[in-house]
Amino acid sequence: MSIEHVDILIIGAGPSGAVAAAYLHDKGFKVKVVERNSFPRFVIGESLIPRCMDHFDAVGFMPCLEKKGFEVKTGARFLQGEKVCEFDFSKKHTDGWDWTWQVPRAEFDKTLTDELERWGVDIAFEKEVVDVKLTNGKSITTIKNKKGDTSEIEAKFIIDSSGFGRVLPRLLHLDKPSEIPKHSSIFTHVKDSRRPEGWEGHRITFDIVSRETWLWVIPFSNGYTSIGYVGPTAYLESFGGNAEDKLREMMKLSNHYHDRFSGLPFEFEPKMIKNIAKSVTQLYGDGYVLTGNSAEFLDPVFSSGVTFATESAHLAAKLITKELQGEAVDWETDYSKYILEGVNVFSTYVKEWYTGNLQKIFFADSENPIIKSQICAVLAGYVWDKTNPFVKNHHRLVKTVARITEMEKENASK
Ligand code: FAD
Repeated sequence: MSIEHVDILIIGAGPSGAVAAAYLHDKGFKVKVVERNSFPRFVIGESLIPRCMDHFDAVGFMPCLEKKGFEVKTGARFLQGEKVCEFDFSKKHTDGWDWTWQVPRAEFDKTLTDELERWGVDIAFEKEVVDVKLTNGKSITTIKNKKGDTSEIEAKFIIDSSGFGRVLPRLLHLDKPSEIPKHSSIFTHVKDSRRPEGWEGHRITFDIVSRETWLWVIPFSNGYTSIGYVGPTAYLESFGGNAEDKLREMMKLSNHYHDRFSGLPFEFEPKMIKNIAKSVTQLYGDGYVLTGNSAEFLDPVFSSGVTFATESAHLAAKLITKELQGEAVDWETDYSKYILEGVNVFSTYVKEWYTGNLQKIFFADSENPIIKSQICAVLAGYVWDKTNPFVKNHHRLVKTVARITEMEKENASK
């Protein structure tokens, strides 16, 4: 069997693989992306947060994305019964992008891969990575096409951007249980024929129907809207019937949205993903690095998935460039520690969301604009800015402010 030789093999052509490919191709490396699907393909993860715009901008994707007219997202609204908490990214503590997009990912991801191909990046669609052998810092990857024929690729470095495919975590046994509670999700798209006029029809909203269960409503500029629930696995499973019955029944939990979506046909049978959170024992090894969802996934509640995917891919690509140019790279400090620092901040917010502490702050009777701007910066994905006390002291600050909020509420009711 003949072996193809490349500098860098990237597994998966989602945002993580695309950002890494763009960066490394621009540096003159021989890059090959192997993607098991043909594009466009459906993937969930439609609400972006501003930090990922830094990465798309840095690797030259902004012009092709801007042409698409995706729905602009300038903040996020959270509802809890009659209470409303609205974040505006232009009022955040950290400097940086104050807008992003809410996107049908099939079209968004295809825009990125079309642009890569236009630049001359080699993307092998409908080829699945089925095996990887790592020896002395070199790798031999076996890929299989739709007919079942296999071939091999030798690469100096592998970037695993395979998302929930989790290729290297599976093959190298790197999986470890996540500390995030076991949540599942059920979702679909609808043609939003009763979309209200004006801003209400376009704004992204999270309707909190109980402490651990919430609905997302993500309107797209093409007239369709993504709707989906996240909640404890056992709770979602307690709804009877097939996936469509379950989601229709769950839509009744939302007073705010029930009428808008009631009876509308679902564009596809709702998909259910169980026990969403994923974690690994290590993010890199000799000749490979994990980026994006393949490395870690927390929870959809703060829409951080794509941003971590592009943050990690961009950083990994920079470090690989250094290493292949003969410079020393400290992967532990410069990659693992950095990425895990951001993951840990978000992880606190996800956990404190589900303990209810963060919800106490979001839905407090009175609002502190400074605290709000600091939390807003976290929700925008700027989780490495240590000038933000809600980043620097994330472990205790959310708890402390939640307690104060509670005490204020108790005092007010006396
Ligand atoms: P992906 O986009 O998943 O791309 C991985 C690619 O690898 C795929 O195209 C796949 O076909 C390919 N692949 C897999 N296995 C192989 C193989 N063996 N060989 C070759 N190719 C392979 N994130 C957000 O930012 N905002 C959200 O609102 C959001 N909501 C979410 C809701 C839910 C219910 C879930 C589960 C996740 C959500 N996410 C969200 C997370 C988001 O889906 C991911 O973080 C994001 O898609 C990660 O991008 P990626 O490039 O790492 O992987």
